[in-house]
Amino acid sequence: MNALKLLEDHYSMNVYPKRDVVLVRGQGARVWDTDGREYIDCVSGNGVANVGHANEAVAQAIVHQAQRLITCPGIFYNDVRAQLLERLIQIAPARLQKAFLCNSGAESIEAAIKFARLATKKSDILCATRGFHGRTLGALSATHNPKYRRDFEPLVPGFRHVPFNDFDKLDRAVGEETAAVLLEIVQGEGGVHVVDADYLNRVQQVCRERGVLLIFDEVQTGFGRTGRPFACQHFGIEPDMMCVAKAMAGGVPMGAVLCSAAVAIPVGKHGSTFGGNPLACAAALAAIDFMEAHRLDEQAREKGDYLVSQLRQPTVPLIREIRHLGLMIGIELRTRVKPYLLKLLERGVLALPAGSTVLRLLPPLVISYPELDRVAEAVVGVLRGED
Ligand SMILES: *Cc1c(COP(=O)(O)O)cnc(C)c1O
Repeated sequence: MNALKLLEDHYSMNVYPKRDVVLVRGQGARVWDTDGREYIDCVSGNGVANVGHANEAVAQAIVHQAQRLITCPGIFYNDVRAQLLERLIQIAPARLQKAFLCNSGAESIEAAIKFARLATKKSDILCATRGFHGRTLGALSATHNPKYRRDFEPLVPGFRHVPFNDFDKLDRAVGEETAAVLLEIVQGEGGVHVVDADYLNRVQQVCRERGVLLIFDEVQTGFGRTGRPFACQHFGIEPDMMCVAKAMAGGVPMGAVLCSAAVAIPVGKHGSTFGGNPLACAAALAAIDFMEAHRLDEQAREKGDYLVSQLRQPTVPLIREIRHLGLMIGIELRTRVKPYLLKLLERGVLALPAGSTVLRLLPPLVISYPELDRVAEAVVGVLRGED
């Protein structure tokens, strides 16, 4: 195990703050390290493993497709890509009628920014404070936190940040050059903050009135995580573009921008070598089928409510507030979160931070109730200082 850690430390660019574990295997909501130690995974590859690790249906689809055709550029038609596109549009909000396929969350944001500028012939994008949209230069320009932006300026011009959930500030910021408003429905990296229903309604209204495109970043909230296939469906609000990625293909890298009829892009204006490759499409089809067959969205709603009720029952002085939508859970602490993440790891639970004081839980949506009990017990235990 030490040899493997040395190799990574030696040969990788070391851009991640590492936890001291070598993960080699997963099944459902659990993962194992090289010593055979078991963990309940509330990281899920940063909200990717919604259908569970080593999901049989996804694995079968990948094997089958790998033996048929892995790569097929967008200049040719492809059977699984056609099926996936149809399936994606079936489960998406009705306004969204077409999709561009890519390979990650940041790529889907990049595409949405280009599409918004192309479709409106305007340049400016309004984003929210605490918003996170990825690390490539365009997506980073939309991201708010100076910690991510600072060393990379000058960023792409035309981006402005207004306070999340403050309609008047947003309304005043919309101008002649505003192409789009870009928002998360639940801010993930920013601390698990759920959008206000009234705010979202009014944002949609002002966008429609002023010819501004409304873009939702559902990269983290999509595919059942929040208790609906897509988080905007809780609010009955339909965007002009919706960016998705993370859980889309059951763990295989994939992203997409879903677009309404208001967004038409001429041939030759955008593209991606790997975007819409048959391997990822086959995995995504299997993951979406699994999500629907097992009603993972409903499961996320019920399990999220259950886990939060288990976390709220005992008195834990260190907890300031718990915010959640489905199985996207943020526990705001009165102190820094980092030491507690390490204590949870020792207790066999992997968890994420969201900023410096929020403990974030994103378990696979297939997690069992006994596993949820163990998570709640461990979280309450470490926060109460029981060792
Ligand atoms: C993770 C994330 C991204 C970036 O996705 P990558 O695949 O890491 O590029 C963008 N937006 C949100 C809301 C995310 O959570």
